[in-house]
Amino acid sequence: MLDGTHDAGRRSFVASANGHDAFPVQNLPFGVFSPQGGTRRAGVAIGDMILDLDAVLAAGLLDGAAEDAAAAATGGALNAMLALGAGPRRALRARLSELLAEGSAEARRLSGMLHASADCALHLPARIGDYTDFYAGIQHATNVGALFRPDNPLLPNYKHVPIGYHGRASSVVPSGAPVRRPNGQRKPAAEAEPSFGPSRNLDYELELGLWIGPGNALGEPIPIGAAEGHVAGYCLLNDWSARDIQGWEYQPLGPFLAKNFCTTVSPWIVTPEALAPFRAAQAPRPQGDPRPMDYLWDERDQAGGALDLLLEVFLVTEGLRAKGLPAHRLSSGNARALYWTPAQLVAHHACGGCNLQPGDLFGTGTISTEGGDGLGSLLEITRGGRQPVALASGETRRFLEDGDEITLRATARRDGFATIGFGECRGAILPAP
Ligand code: CA
Repeated sequence: MLDGTHDAGRRSFVASANGHDAFPVQNLPFGVFSPQGGTRRAGVAIGDMILDLDAVLAAGLLDGAAEDAAAAATGGALNAMLALGAGPRRALRARLSELLAEGSAEARRLSGMLHASADCALHLPARIGDYTDFYAGIQHATNVGALFRPDNPLLPNYKHVPIGYHGRASSVVPSGAPVRRPNGQRKPAAEAEPSFGPSRNLDYELELGLWIGPGNALGEPIPIGAAEGHVAGYCLLNDWSARDIQGWEYQPLGPFLAKNFCTTVSPWIVTPEALAPFRAAQAPRPQGDPRPMDYLWDERDQAGGALDLLLEVFLVTEGLRAKGLPAHRLSSGNARALYWTPAQLVAHHACGGCNLQPGDLFGTGTISTEGGDGLGSLLEITRGGRQPVALASGETRRFLEDGDEITLRATARRDGFATIGFGECRGAILPAP
């Protein structure tokens, strides 16, 4: 799976890419952007710049499968390119790596197709037909369960079934879009009657997102051994959650308005190819846990289906901003804490015949690491709001206040390879309407 595109020694003629913490030439994630005043087009992040993929295609710099992939990426959404699968995507990546390398014969022509990221708007990379949110972070499920059932935090199905629910695609927004505090029904334990108004317990959830590539026909399951091939790439996902609305509405059918008002994703699709050096074995299940059923079990997936990613969450408040203080890091964890691999999520989703479509989005579920530093939500960090976080500004937080800004980051690091990142997944809270 490793090739010249992963060579840590490869440099780019785009100076800001060399040593860039997210987008060196070894990453090359795909997205949709518009330059100032321009239309939506496909792009590739390289350092602090975006390469206009539509322009590269129009200039005749691609051929074969690489050209097919870029041609499918035009029109302001990447769905048709995601549908092509790994072959064309890999060919395009290989050609782009060559074109953007130091000493590239096309450096001069490409320079005219590069835009400063700071001058561009980034959009959702695909039209999302359906969005599904899983619950694969076992530590999160345990922590949240323990708030309600201290003696028996995990429900009996958890270790057998990859738990999930169908979310809302229309309110998924790209990083930077504002997040409006929702109104809804709340009923705190101390109040006799429910009331309607702004959520008082607004939270974030740190998750990975999976972009589905090739789909499957209705009625035809995806075998676990083929599931990986249906994942076109990854992003960060913040499943904003109104805990008070959730607590009142969630039984018996699960989350509804507590989650559907907004979901933020990082705008770049980081490909399985870029992440190949950072695959890891799925953590062995503790003694006594059931072995996954056969339709979820694949030796290759167990040996290398997990992702070794550092995951961090940062909070900026008006108080921190006013005093010129840096963002407060709320957590630092790792994606290896997921109980199910991406391939298992895909195979499970389709096992009953549900058809996945190119551009569908999965959330993994909140990722919390064992131990105190890697908790993926305020619900866990503040123990349901009972232990507020103290900030250097003198402020405290139980949950998010208006004006607060949350940024998720993911970094992939391994000796002998260039470090890559996902770019930011950021959103700031606006007051309720
Ligand atoms: Ca979630």
